[in-house]
Amino acid sequence: MIDVSRIRNFCIIAHIDHGKSTFADRLLELTNTVPARKMRSQFLDQMDLERERGITIKMQPVHMNYQLSTINYQLNLIDTPGHIDFTYEVSRALLAVEGAVLLVDATQGVQAQTITNLDLAKQFNLAIIPVINKIDLPDARIEETTKEIMELLDCSPDDILLVSAKTGQGVAQILEAIARRIPAPLEYNAPFRALIFDSQYSTHKGVLAYVRVFSGSFSPGRGITLHLVNKNIDIEPVEVGVFLPHLSKTNELCAGEIGYIATNAKDPEAVRVGDTIGSVAIGTYQEPKPMVWASLFPAASDEFEKIKDALLKLKLNDPALSYEVEGSAVLGRSLRVGFLGMLHLEITIERLQREFGVLVVVAHPTVEYEVVDANGTVYAIRDPVSFENIRTIHEVREPWFLVSIVSRTTDRGSVIELAKQREGEVREMNALTGERMVLVVCMPLRKLIAHFFDDLKSVTQGYGSLSYEFREMRVVDLAVLRVWIAEKAVSQFSRLLPKAELEREARKTVERLYEILPRQLFALKIQAGIGDSGGAGRILASRTLPALAKHVTAKLYGGDRSRKMKLWKKQKEGKKRLRKHADVDIPHEVYIKMIGK
Ligand code: GDP
Ligand code: MG
Repeated sequence: MIDVSRIRNFCIIAHIDHGKSTFADRLLELTNTVPARKMRSQFLDQMDLERERGITIKMQPVHMNYQLSTINYQLNLIDTPGHIDFTYEVSRALLAVEGAVLLVDATQGVQAQTITNLDLAKQFNLAIIPVINKIDLPDARIEETTKEIMELLDCSPDDILLVSAKTGQGVAQILEAIARRIPAPLEYNAPFRALIFDSQYSTHKGVLAYVRVFSGSFSPGRGITLHLVNKNIDIEPVEVGVFLPHLSKTNELCAGEIGYIATNAKDPEAVRVGDTIGSVAIGTYQEPKPMVWASLFPAASDEFEKIKDALLKLKLNDPALSYEVEGSAVLGRSLRVGFLGMLHLEITIERLQREFGVLVVVAHPTVEYEVVDANGTVYAIRDPVSFENIRTIHEVREPWFLVSIVSRTTDRGSVIELAKQREGEVREMNALTGERMVLVVCMPLRKLIAHFFDDLKSVTQGYGSLSYEFREMRVVDLAVLRVWIAEKAVSQFSRLLPKAELEREARKTVERLYEILPRQLFALKIQAGIGDSGGAGRILASRTLPALAKHVTAKLYGGDRSRKMKLWKKQKEGKKRLRKHADVDIPHEVYIKMIGK
């Protein structure tokens, strides 16, 4: 039996790139958790995708043994991602631990995600150990960063520890502080209760539930079952163990510990993150709310079932994903998937490709609108078809977010300018120490997801950072932008847009189609505007793609003269008049290029 008073559960929280994963490497080395010959940098970033991008996407628990004077401790660390899109990962990890190491990069100082993640940690009443990292760098601003942290935590400078995760300087002192300053888990006797904070799918052992044990102990055996509270079902686990960080089988899991339970459940939906194993539910996770919706189409038309199956399994490891099936006559079935933000979308697409081998195309990322009809019924709408199905629209509302931007004071002008271009309203401006400031802007989510973060990075030379939260729903005047090719509406290209943006978007769409549509034997009219699908609309932009000019017969080598004659004749006719209501054969690639980013 493990002595609960010797267990320390903690996570590392920080803004992205402030050195969490590198710092975790040093802890793994110092505690001899990973043998030197196996060590590689950012060890806990186990996905190739994480290593290539240099960012942590998934939380990763690891179990370490640590000796301080003569006492042996069990340290359980959960490494967490830093980007705002993955805050949901962080909040799950926080419920499983008693303390947090707050890491701040000495060259960057306190950033937007430092503040957001710290606020979260405070909500969970965690013991915080503030640490300044990267002190080896010549441009480290230790004094200013110390002041910033003191302001943030209301602590004394002596509480703040200095390290270089790169050289290892100061890391040993942090291990000591973890043992001394983070409280041991509260001890409870049986019955066994554990919280599932993450999960993964194993073909052999079924769903692997990552758990924090709150009371009791458990060792698997024939006929020994556990109860899943939220699903009200019993499971018969086949194995338990800890993370080294690879799965390492143990005999039992005890109160206070973090480890895994191989549930043997083959249905990925049977075990859910946030569920409790035992008799009474522990805490509750806030259900993640998707902010961006997009349709995912298989790049190969017969791969729909493969994508659906992949998403189901990916959801185990990423419970923030939600989706529903939708259909399209031309492109076949697709899935409408909700994401926590644009990075989450991007990462999901890459994971589907790498981990499940399915190539997908992403169509029209959009926010969710609230549409109220004449009877006062409210609909959640994310696509033009559902929007047009509502007969009498009384009002449409869209989500507005409060965005906190941390940047250098010298960038104030360009940041405000950028925010205003995106319909942003400046709410607050506060100075931070060290010539920096926090700007609070209210803006439509629709604008926030349209590469706002990338643009902020470029106007601030990489110094700006942001975090955001939902603020309110506001009225917006929406319409459907429609596209006609040869005077036939092409519904796949329809989009929901605020009226104020229709004209600009209509022009952009027409130009893009003009570029990518292959020429036909006849001239083609490309139009965009508003109005009904029959074609009686108001055209906002229009261009005519000329007919195929020369060499229509080039492909027909050899002497088939009669076929050549036929083609020439066809071309001549085509040039004479503009084809109307023709059945233009739009190649699949054109659809993919148009609806994709
Ligand atoms: P994370 O996003 O918080 O996990 O940050 P990483 O651990 O991936 O580190 C981000 C970058 O900072 C990497 O290039 C690291 O090599 C570098 N880095 C981390 N800690 C230090 C440090 O103490 N000194 C220096 N010079 N670089 C560091
Ligand atoms: Mg990392």
